[in-house]
This record gives sequence, structure tokens and C-alpha cells, in this order.
Amino acid sequence: MSESKGLGKLFRAFFEANDLQEIVSTFRAVCREVEVDPDQRENFYQTLKERLHDWRCDPLWPMLDERLARPVYEGQSPCKGKRLLVVGAGPIGLRMAIEGIMLGAEVDVVEKRESFTRNNVVHLWPFVVQDLKGLGAKHFHSRFCSGSIHHAAIRLLQVLLLKTCLLLGVKIHFPVSFQDLIEPQTDSDDWRVLFEPPTTPLSSQTFDSIIAADGKQYCLPGFTGKEFRAKLAIGITMNFVNNRKKSDILVEEIGGWSYHCDQAFFNKLAKDHGIELENIVYYKDETHYFVMTAKKSSLLEKGVLLKDYPTSGELLSRDNVCRDALVDYAKEAAVYTTKGGLGELVFAPNYRGDKDVAMFDFTGMMYSDNASKILERKGKKLLLGIAGDSLFESFWPTGSGMGRGVLGVFDAAWMFKRFCQGDPPLEVVKEREGLFNGLRSVFSLVSNTNGYTIDPVTRYGLARMSSLSVPQDTTQIYDTDAV
Ligand code: FAD
Repeated sequence: MSESKGLGKLFRAFFEANDLQEIVSTFRAVCREVEVDPDQRENFYQTLKERLHDWRCDPLWPMLDERLARPVYEGQSPCKGKRLLVVGAGPIGLRMAIEGIMLGAEVDVVEKRESFTRNNVVHLWPFVVQDLKGLGAKHFHSRFCSGSIHHAAIRLLQVLLLKTCLLLGVKIHFPVSFQDLIEPQTDSDDWRVLFEPPTTPLSSQTFDSIIAADGKQYCLPGFTGKEFRAKLAIGITMNFVNNRKKSDILVEEIGGWSYHCDQAFFNKLAKDHGIELENIVYYKDETHYFVMTAKKSSLLEKGVLLKDYPTSGELLSRDNVCRDALVDYAKEAAVYTTKGGLGELVFAPNYRGDKDVAMFDFTGMMYSDNASKILERKGKKLLLGIAGDSLFESFWPTGSGMGRGVLGVFDAAWMFKRFCQGDPPLEVVKEREGLFNGLRSVFSLVSNTNGYTIDPVTRYGLARMSSLSVPQDTTQIYDTDAV
């Protein structure tokens, strides 16, 4: 089909769409215009590519073709005919969905929310930037990672990845929440899922694998997390409007200052303003974003926390926080850090339309007990896995969330590929656990990031792969009713 004026307008709306509902509805309108059924599974990408020509879209096809043609995906044959459900349309769930499609599976993503709302900005490791650029991030958003420190707003990552997902044929369902697994009832039955609302057409579908990237919710049965509690750490995030004026541009970003490295800066802030911080990060992104760890004593003294309590839960409870004082505290710290160079700072609105400043408990970090599991009932196997923040929560000021998150996606995709192509299931999940154990401690990575694929050897190296610490007791990762 040749380029038409109507199509150009529709594709532009999709290209510029900025939130979940808008992206999905504009995409469906584009599909209708080129007479492709947006719910089609078989050859969806090829059909859309043949029919959809628009100058904004044309440069994307070769980029995606190049990725699909990588040898590790074997022409989309390894998972052909298999059904993968991804729980959660956060950046990691969406990135997982892309790997599922690349491997040839039919992929559905369920997301319980109706909107992408997080202004907060995440740090991106170089290999993640490279990966996302190769999936069209820069094409959809020309400012993507153009500064010296690489980062992106969480909601922007969701927007960019969702657009790529849709073009490749991933189907997204929202607001739909994963509730539980439904075991096969008869020998001819297969694994199903209980969703909310149950009226979703997905309720009648069967699945071969489910990967949950549900951000620490542990919705999959049999997966639990442990909390590692460190010294009390109170995090504050805030976002200010970025007007992209000269003053917005001139102020330099702060990749991460900590008390140990620059005592004079932090001591002066404490002396002149009564604000005691342990570290601070400032990124100039869609917003001016700050994340910092503040000392309890100064929050009490400045009236942000009303009373002292022994537990962080009580300390940071809604009733114990004076929001106006928090707003002033955060703004004062931001003005001091940027030497007032950003001029009049105006808070960006959060999802409720309030000033986007929030206080979080960074004291506890969640780690999953395991990364994978096979359930077998009536001879039917279901491969389960988790990825993203559920696997290991990141400490925001260091920004390991997306780096380790994407490595976890690649490892989960490798597990899914091996499972679909019939490798011994227990070996598949044992290897997955071995990789997870490695990533829990700091894994050294192969320096040539250009060669990274879902094959773990390309990222961790041969030596590491031959010395994985795999679990000896496999009852936790292989649950079968077979006698
Ligand atoms: P998430 O991004 O949390 O996505 C999980 C998704 O799963 C959500 O969209 C959720 O609605 C959906 N979901 C959950 N349960 C279900 C279910 N049963 N059914 C369907 N859908 C479900 N990191 C930083 O580095 N800096 C920050 O400042 C920062 N701020 C954050 C602020 C908030 C409020 C949150 C929640 C996280 C923040 N993070 C921050 C963490 C960062 O967002 C994650 O590391 C990153 O988004 C990757 O996480 P993810 O995709 O695994 O999970």
C-alpha cells in the first residue's frame, strides 16, 4: 500500500502518543487504515511492514529486521507456536515481550494500570543504551540519551518499548491483572490463568510460559522474596519542570555525589540549610530529576518527619510526614545543589496532579529466592520465571535497576528458548538459577557489549558459564505431580 495522507496523520499520532491508552488506540487506528487486524498473530510483523509505509516508520523496519535476523533467534523458529504471557508493562516486562516475539512466540502482556505515570529517571548502563537504540528508541525520541550521562524517565522507557512491542506483534491487555494459575483439569487440558477482569479474552487462552516482571509483587505462586535490611536510608525523589531554556541547559548534571567523596559540599549544606544528605544525583531529562538519601535527624529537625519512631514503616507513614515541609526541604536541596542555576524551580505534576516529590524507604532491598520454576500437572509443563525489580530491587541512586533488569530479561529469554526447543527442563531451570546466583553477587561482564545476545556466554564468558553454582535441591524449581 502506498503512503497516503490519512495514514501519515494516523501514524504521526501513534509516533507522538505519550501514554498507554493513546499509544494502543492510535496503533489500532493505523492497523485499520492499512487493513491489518491488530489481533492477528501469524506473520503480523511481516504483513504490517509490507503495508505500512510512512517516512517516520520506514527507517524502523531495517533496524528491527536486523535484530530479528540475529542468529540466536534462528529465524523465529525456536518458540514458534508457543504462548508466552508477560505480567507487567514496566520497562522490563516490555523488554521481555520483545525477546519472546524475536524467538517466534505469541506474546501477550497484561498490565493492571491504565497509564504510564512515573517521571522518575533511571540510570542506563551503556549496553542498555545500545540495546534500546537498536530497537528504535532514538528514532521515536530524538533526545534519547543525548547527554553525557545516560538515563531516561521510567515512563518514557515504557512509551518507547511499548511502541516497538506493538509493531513487532506483541499484544497488550490493560487494565488486566494476573491473579492466579489454573492447573489443567483433564489430560487434554492445559495451563490457564485467572485474570481480573475475568472477561478478558485471555481467560480462555492456554500458556506455555509466564514471566512476571511485576515490580516486587511476586504474583506468581511459588515465588517469594527476601528483604535485606541495611542501615536506615531515607530516599527522596523530586521532579521539576524542564522548560529547556538556556538556564535549564547550562546547569551540569550530577552523576552521583556522596558524602565520602565531597565532604565540604555536604557539610556546607548541613551548616547553612540544616539539610543533611548522604548522597545526591541530579539528571536533566524530561524533567529535572533529583534523588537523594537524607539523614533522619535533619528531616526531624526541619519538621518533615513529625515524630521519631524505631521502624522505617512508622517513621515514613503518611501521618508522620509533613508534605509542605518535605516540598520545602527537597526544593532547598535542589537549589543549593545546582547553585540556583535553574532559576525558579516549579515542581512537575505527579500522577495525582500534585507536586512530584516523594519519600521512600531505601533501607530494605528485596531479592527473590529463585528466578524460575517448572510446574508439571497431568503431563503438562508450565515454565515460570521472574525478571526486573522482583528479581533484585535496585538502589536508585546507583541506578542498577535497568542494567541488571535487562541482563535478567536476556537470561529469562534464553531459558524460554531452551525450554521451547526441548532441552531437558530440569537442566534449563538449573542453569537459570546458576545465572541468577551469579548476578546476585556482582558478575563480571564480557567487555565487548556489541556481542551481547540472550546467549549467556556472550555476556558472562565461557569460564563463568562452566562454573555456575546450580542448586542441588531442585524441589523448589521443579514441582511435578508425576509419580
Ligand atoms: P516496574 O517498572 O515496577 O513495572 C511493574 C509493572 O507490573 C507495573 O506497571 C505494575 O502495574 C505491573 N503489575 C504488577 N502486578 C501486576 C499484576 N498482578 N498484573 C498485571 N500487572 C501487574 N528506579 C530508579 O533507578 N530511580 C527512581 O527514581 C525510581 N523511582 C521509582 C518510583 C516508583 C514509584 C517505582 C515503583 C519504582 C521506581 N524505580 C526507580 C524503580 C524502577 O522503576 C525499576 O527499576 C524499573 O522500572 C524496572 O522495573 P520493572 O519493569 O521490573 O518493574
